[in-house]
Amino acid sequence: MVVATPAHSGVGEALSYRSERPLDVGALVRVPLGAREVLGIVWRCDNALPEGLAPDQARDVAQVLDALPPLDSPWRDLVAFAARYYQRSLGEVALAALPPPLRDLTPEQLARRLKRPARAAAPDTPADGARELSAEQAAALAAIDSADAPALLFGATGSGKTEVYLQACAHALARDPAAQVLVLVPEINLTPQLEERFRARFAAAHGSDAVVSLHSGMTPPQRLAGWIAAHTGRARIVLGTRLAVFASLPGLKLIVVDEEHDPSYKSQDGARYSARDLAIYRAKVAGARVVLGSATPSLESWHASEQGRYRRLAMPSRIGGGALPRLRLVDMNHQPKGALIAPPLLAAMAERVARGEQCLVLINRRGYAPVLACHACGWKSGCPHCSAFRVFHKLDRTLRCHHCGFTQRVPRACPDCGNLDIEPIGRGTEQVEEQLAGLLADARRPDGDPARVARMDADTTKAKGSLEAQLAALHAGEVDVLVGTQMIAKGHDFRRITLVAAINADAALFASDHRAPERLFALLLQAAGRAGRDAAHADASELWVQTWHPEHKLFSHLRAHDYPGFATAELADRAAAAMPPFAHQALLRADARTQEAAQGFLKAAARAAQALPERAAVTLYPAVPLTIQRVANVERAQLLIESDSRAAMQRFLSAWQPLLLQSRSAPEARGLIRFAVDVDPLAV
Ligand code: ADP
Ligand code: ZN
Ligand code: ZN
Repeated sequence: MVVATPAHSGVGEALSYRSERPLDVGALVRVPLGAREVLGIVWRCDNALPEGLAPDQARDVAQVLDALPPLDSPWRDLVAFAARYYQRSLGEVALAALPPPLRDLTPEQLARRLKRPARAAAPDTPADGARELSAEQAAALAAIDSADAPALLFGATGSGKTEVYLQACAHALARDPAAQVLVLVPEINLTPQLEERFRARFAAAHGSDAVVSLHSGMTPPQRLAGWIAAHTGRARIVLGTRLAVFASLPGLKLIVVDEEHDPSYKSQDGARYSARDLAIYRAKVAGARVVLGSATPSLESWHASEQGRYRRLAMPSRIGGGALPRLRLVDMNHQPKGALIAPPLLAAMAERVARGEQCLVLINRRGYAPVLACHACGWKSGCPHCSAFRVFHKLDRTLRCHHCGFTQRVPRACPDCGNLDIEPIGRGTEQVEEQLAGLLADARRPDGDPARVARMDADTTKAKGSLEAQLAALHAGEVDVLVGTQMIAKGHDFRRITLVAAINADAALFASDHRAPERLFALLLQAAGRAGRDAAHADASELWVQTWHPEHKLFSHLRAHDYPGFATAELADRAAAAMPPFAHQALLRADARTQEAAQGFLKAAARAAQALPERAAVTLYPAVPLTIQRVANVERAQLLIESDSRAAMQRFLSAWQPLLLQSRSAPEARGLIRFAVDVDPLAV
């Protein structure tokens, strides 16, 4: 018998244990590992011990958690695929896919937990019936119902994608009394809202505990309860963030990935999996349908729909016919020098405020200023532990490192030369909020009060419940101008906002990250799409962008709300540069005490690869330091691997893995802390 245990990279794939009685494959067991007893999953059962293992070497299975049905074969297939594809050990991925409390429960505790009645039904949500679909929605739904390929639901913001998900879900549940549906969303913040809508729709027919959520913001007992509900089939609909892609769903018939372009579907530590890509694989092995939805699909998914691998379903029209906002480009070359907000934009904002409408100002940096500097000697507010500047937060007068968290009070004078005149350089949300309040001092609301400017970013929403409170204030009309980072552009419905402004969009146009234009385009189109949904304001709503490069081709597509045009142009660039999705990439990353050791390990690994026949089908680039080379006193470097074949890349990485482990002990790798492989990295 073979059991997958929490193996750290380097430990073999599975371990062998003995059991007197036959066990089901997929059963959960507790087994001894060294001096501890750990949770394991039966991965294979053999009558004979593996060759080379003497009977007295194999230890006995300690306990079987037989109150739980075994994990089914599609689930095990998914986990095995994820481990293989993302170059992690099977045990690590399998165990990480289970809710943490399961690791510590004895069979008796588990049996008691299972007998406990389902948690008290959620407060009654008013029931909500299915809407009559628009022609575009009906066509999309019919295609999803009959699709044999993954569907890409390309629907404008406000085109009613959620209604299509809801009805596709209803159809799946109606077709099969044991059917289950998995709905993935990018943000924890979006799950309560969505859970409400799904519960309102399905509670009447399927009971109020038919809908459960699974995300990292839940307490361990909540996650366990949700997982058990899914695993035992009691939950018919599971809503969750990326980790929910691993939920055990024996009746899985439909997977929805909402806002499929969102980068948060890619995990950035441990197994660096893409929940969107795993959803596609999972649907295939489970025989389920899968729908990816977005107004601005990832170029990968768009490309797949161009090739016919995904079936594209377009819903270009907004429900209620509201027009999409008009683009107003402000050419900063012709504005007063140093202007934060160009005069025409400021005038437009004052006008909105006077009409009782709201404005949203997007800026990509929180804090007051990204750097504090001394002009006398050139001192800058660097972080002593990172190769990055500490951000000036004026409100509590601190310098904070956004990478390692190192925080200090702002010095009274320059620490190097004693100059009292140290100044912020650049602008963050705090400063924009402060300056806007000044710039709009003369603007009046319809009630005669001065304009109210507020800010919303990771700093103002840290406390539990503060995001909800701020959103409520916004919806109640207590705020006229909201300044925030991109987090505010996601998912929320801003009915009374009729002006969205991006005041420093240029950074993304010339970033070294080849996905930056795609992100900017998605952000602006999404933010604009959230604005002015109320028909009364819709025609007047505008998207303002301040730029020094108004001629950039991104803006002509944005002006026409032409995502397909943008995608075609970007894909042509990517093809010309042999970038994804036309090439496949992986990164080998190394963290070490010194940059020499980090790169030394990478070089040793690259040298070791020379011996592999699989090496011929991939390109290995030289080891380089990361853009932010040092974080919390750890030096970071990476090596890019490219291939035009996904299969060749996979074969190479698998063959390389054991050599990576050996390269750790190369002399030049002394001081290496850890390494990791990132397959299909988001940024290189
Ligand atoms: P999307 O997710 O595509 O941005 P939503 O699903 O949020 O759009 O739909 C936008 C609005 O239109 C919502 O308020 C929704 O309740 C409403 N809506 C969707 N479909 C219909 C329909 N067929 N009839 C009437 N209202 C609808
Ligand atoms: Zn100085
Ligand atoms: Zn730091």
